[in-house]
Amino acid sequence: MRYISTRGQAPALSFEEVVLTGMASDGGLYVPETVPSLSHDDLADMAGLSYAEIAFRVMRPYVNGEIDDETFRGIVRDAYATFSHDAVVPLNQLDANHFLLELFHGPTLAFKDVALQLLGRLLDHFLAKRGERAVIMGATSGDTGSAAIEGCRHCDNLDIFILHPYQRVSEVQRRQMTSVLADNVFNIAIEGNFDDAQAMVKASFADQSFLNGTRLVAVNSINWARIMAQIVYYVASAVALGAPHRKVSFCVPSANFGNVFAGYMAFRMGLPVERFVIATNANDILHRTLADNDFSKQELVATLAPSMDIVVSSNFERLLFEAYERDGAAVAALLERFQAEPTALADAPLSRLRETFASHSVDDATILEVIREAHHRTQEILDPHTATGYRAAERERGDESVPMITLATAHPAKFAEAVVKAGFPGVPLPPHMDDLLEREERYTVLPAELAAVQRFVAENRR
Ligand SMILES: *Cc1c(COP(=O)(O)O)cnc(C)c1O
Repeated sequence: MRYISTRGQAPALSFEEVVLTGMASDGGLYVPETVPSLSHDDLADMAGLSYAEIAFRVMRPYVNGEIDDETFRGIVRDAYATFSHDAVVPLNQLDANHFLLELFHGPTLAFKDVALQLLGRLLDHFLAKRGERAVIMGATSGDTGSAAIEGCRHCDNLDIFILHPYQRVSEVQRRQMTSVLADNVFNIAIEGNFDDAQAMVKASFADQSFLNGTRLVAVNSINWARIMAQIVYYVASAVALGAPHRKVSFCVPSANFGNVFAGYMAFRMGLPVERFVIATNANDILHRTLADNDFSKQELVATLAPSMDIVVSSNFERLLFEAYERDGAAVAALLERFQAEPTALADAPLSRLRETFASHSVDDATILEVIREAHHRTQEILDPHTATGYRAAERERGDESVPMITLATAHPAKFAEAVVKAGFPGVPLPPHMDDLLEREERYTVLPAELAAVQRFVAENRR
């Protein structure tokens, strides 16, 4: 198994290289050269297995023998032992055939833990094997930083520096990052906004000379290993509901498209899926593209579901590559046009996408209405991201005999603002986190100056 770029011009890489590499050198994203298959028997044999064992079986072909089986099993087991629910990602039945797949039982209460708990350990494994160390840098507006920190805190060969805008992230989000006191974790509060923080991280990747040759690694959602880890819960949940003997549908609150693309990979591997419903908030590029063939950027809107606030959906390129029948040149040309002006997909690729994907966009007023309505009907308090999924699933449900699985991407306590706006008194943090507001914090405030940030990183990395 090799990995190739969606734009067709970058060298093919091994699994190890793809884990250590972000974007391909031609600006594309890496995807596996062939899609491994899960046969009817493979799926049937998974009934009753633990999440970690299913994860091992689903991911094994992507790892391609580059980690021996026992070591990889151990890595997977450790990654998912950090989840507070024994089922790792439990299914919660809402009504006759609508289920929530709870992806928020990891250390930071959102689904990104599923991928980042694994990615940190994979990076550490490969770095140890090479006798190398690496530095991770990232900017966060609050949410993904903590999942990255939790994923790396136990990694001997990694130092992680996460920049957040000083006094501009919520207290819960800040404390989820700054209360991790591990020696290899550095939180930097930038006296500026998120864009300033992001710009400094980008500039550091563009010129890494300040690290004197140490590798700088990104753990953003274009890393293939993150997609790979997310394939697993599609398979595990479908098997729990009767796959391969019956089909299921999935509804996925989406932004950068990493999550739902992983579902599509599960489908391509052989999981029987009726269809995928893509839910967006008011930042609806995915919905506009699928419904109206309007593939264009629009102004960013700040919504009640902030982890889905995006202008461009980076992982959508991976799906376009499939829709354009793996014609890297066509994908490169389309995306070049897209950067410059509003554009549209060609007819054949668009109809291919519409065979498998439906979409629905949900605005803020509707998010609040859905949180109230879902509580009334099911007693569940949904987080605002999951609420977009709930509404889209209800709208696009289709064949009533096919179970609909809506991915619950965050715990409602993490996004209490929307829950309170919907008229609830708030949601308590789960028991293992209820002392979060008393924990000791550590972070460094720095001016929004590239030189100051780079000096801090260079001096503190181990
Ligand atoms: C990141 C995130 C999403 C969007 O996932 P993508 O993979 O970017 O589509 C949805 N909900 C929550 C809570 C998230 O953190």
